[in-house]
Amino acid sequence: MYIRTPRLEIFPQRIEANARSVVQLCHAHGAQVACVTKVMSAHPSVVHALEAGGADMIADSRILNLQSISNIGMTLPLMLLRIPAPSAVADIVRCADYSLNSSVETLELLSEAAEFAGVTHRAIIMVDVGDLREGVWPDKAVEVVRGASKLPNLEIVGVGCNLACYGGVIPTAENMHMLVEIRDACRKATGLPLDIISGGNSANLPLLAAGGMPKEINHFRIGEAITLGRNVLDRSPWPGTRQDTFRIVAEIVEIECKPSVPIGSRGQDAFGGYSDFVDRGIRKRAICNIGRQDVVVDGITPEDPGIIVLGGSSDHLVLDVEEAHTEVELGSQVVFYPSYGALLAATTSPYMQKVVVKG
Ligand SMILES: *Cc1c(COP(=O)(O)O)cnc(C)c1O
Repeated sequence: MYIRTPRLEIFPQRIEANARSVVQLCHAHGAQVACVTKVMSAHPSVVHALEAGGADMIADSRILNLQSISNIGMTLPLMLLRIPAPSAVADIVRCADYSLNSSVETLELLSEAAEFAGVTHRAIIMVDVGDLREGVWPDKAVEVVRGASKLPNLEIVGVGCNLACYGGVIPTAENMHMLVEIRDACRKATGLPLDIISGGNSANLPLLAAGGMPKEINHFRIGEAITLGRNVLDRSPWPGTRQDTFRIVAEIVEIECKPSVPIGSRGQDAFGGYSDFVDRGIRKRAICNIGRQDVVVDGITPEDPGIIVLGGSSDHLVLDVEEAHTEVELGSQVVFYPSYGALLAATTSPYMQKVVVKG
């Protein structure tokens, strides 16, 4: 095996199949899907897979990612997910067709920038229905939409919300109805059509699949359920998707039999923490060439169920391989499945080679 390590293996055909399955579910409800690319830094192979899988839009939280998506010739509309920074409005109106917003001041800046660039920018007004991340408080929504409705080169196309990110609040028929009522109130106050109600992210799929999603909710922004095939409320496999869409491969650089508890008096580790050690006696241990600069150490699961991840520092991952089912020796390449956080780190790390795998 001569392929370099550490590497992130990407399986675009599997991601495409996941996208098709999730998009079909949303389309059956009459909802459009913005497929979210931020967790894989908008890798071109994945962007193409999402497009082929039926995405109606592509969404990302970073302007740089949207820029690289347009550079590969994307024709679908692009949506910026993170609330715009006032200093970035010129780039945003250039790179994004849609953005999610919560303040009139920023919308004024977007309007000016759009006028200057000679484009019309589309904005969705985010409302906080309980998760306490982004969005105006519900009783301020009408005022914000009214203020924004007068701005030139800016089209307020609807409202949206985001749940299950900061507060972990689960989407329910109640909080979704609240969003619909807020849209109706804004519509009445301004006369704008406000056709889009963007109900949320992957966390909305369980309610949708159970038939409890109000029919007025006609847009979702879906990342993890497609890219990792997970129900994000409990991280169980999402029906109709596969979970082996990415693999992380690292290589063993040292293998030794050692005790499982450190010897000597102990202070802080390299990251200022104190660790607990389970005494399993003398064990066969391996060090891999991957660390916290490339992954979230707690967020990777070895493909071999006999291997235990003990911990890691910036550049070293320590494994217990005593009960490995596979052959483990110096130079062996060890496969892991990443969590969302580990995938986010892996795609961002320039030290991780990204390899597209067919099949
Ligand atoms: C990241 C993000 C999403 C997608 O979330 P997933 O849980 O990956 O589906 C949707 N909306 C916003 C505003 C986001 O930041």
